Amino acid sequence: MPARTLTMPGNTDQFVLTERPALTLTDRSRPLPDGMDHTNLTLVPANQVGSRHEQEEPPMSTTTAKDAIRVATRAFRNGSVRGVRTYLHINCGCRIASSLMGTYDNIEDARRKGAELVEGGDYYRTCSKSGLVKAQALSRSVRYFDDTMQAAASTFNGAGVRDGDVVVVASEGVVAIVIRAAVIAITAKRGHLIGLDTSARTFRDGLYAEIVDRAEAEARKIRATVDPLHAAPAAEEAPAAPATPADVVRTDGVQVKPGPEWGTLKGFAAPFRLWGEEREGGRFAPAFDRMRVTGEPLVIVEVWTTQRGTARHGRDANGREVHLYGGATRFWRAPGA
Ligand SMILES: [Zn+2]
Repeated sequence: MPARTLTMPGNTDQFVLTERPALTLTDRSRPLPDGMDHTNLTLVPANQVGSRHEQEEPPMSTTTAKDAIRVATRAFRNGSVRGVRTYLHINCGCRIASSLMGTYDNIEDARRKGAELVEGGDYYRTCSKSGLVKAQALSRSVRYFDDTMQAAASTFNGAGVRDGDVVVVASEGVVAIVIRAAVIAITAKRGHLIGLDTSARTFRDGLYAEIVDRAEAEARKIRATVDPLHAAPAAEEAPAAPATPADVVRTDGVQVKPGPEWGTLKGFAAPFRLWGEEREGGRFAPAFDRMRVTGEPLVIVEVWTTQRGTARHGRDANGREVHLYGGATRFWRAPGA
């Protein structure tokens, strides 16, 4: 019976593949599914299976907005008056325990539930941390203006531009998103608009990520350059060629040296290596093509977060800062210096 022995980097276990044996209860072996043999097999540590699966999804560039609207009640006491109020929590991070009455992915159902719960002429409220309803914002038209002066005033001058809208000023090569009442440029050129000093993708726990996707698409249409701070990590269309993970173990037992892997920085303590390229102005740009690793590794010696933990930053041995985006952002990285 032919047998093959497989090993994995960082693991002393050996895996012996044989032809399908007669299965007994005491065997520590499992049959392969029918139709599968051991001639073409890739061994992957179990803790990486999930991340590999996630790679199948377009990274941070989906425009399907998932709204999470929770309806909850809260007891209140005002002097001798006691009662219960109903709140809609729209895409917020409020902690709600036993008073959760339902979770909805659309505002209509949530409002219906809210109306059901209120009594005696009361009305339901929206919690103070609530964000925009993404599905509503994405269903509104992109707004076009002749210049950035007009665009800057468009949330309060009667033009009706609202939170979550995308604003385009083609004549100046500027695209913006609206956060609350602020018209914020996401392109390298801003004109008279203001910028944001953190990634709009991770701002407010990613509430505006889909809006930024939409704005980036508009920027491509007018050939405007998106500020790298806000750009999707894999903005280019992924080529059809499959990735070649650096640590695929071949079935002939040859162990390939572990190299960069595409993934998030979860569980990665400094120092670690980050692949990318040196850019103008002394900036280091992480490699964002998930299909292939490019550039050279930079050793990151320190990592910290801002925006209540949603935005990451790193520093190399020379004290240079590298923006590491949010927790969901993937990089080509490897542990150790
Ligand atoms: Zn809330």
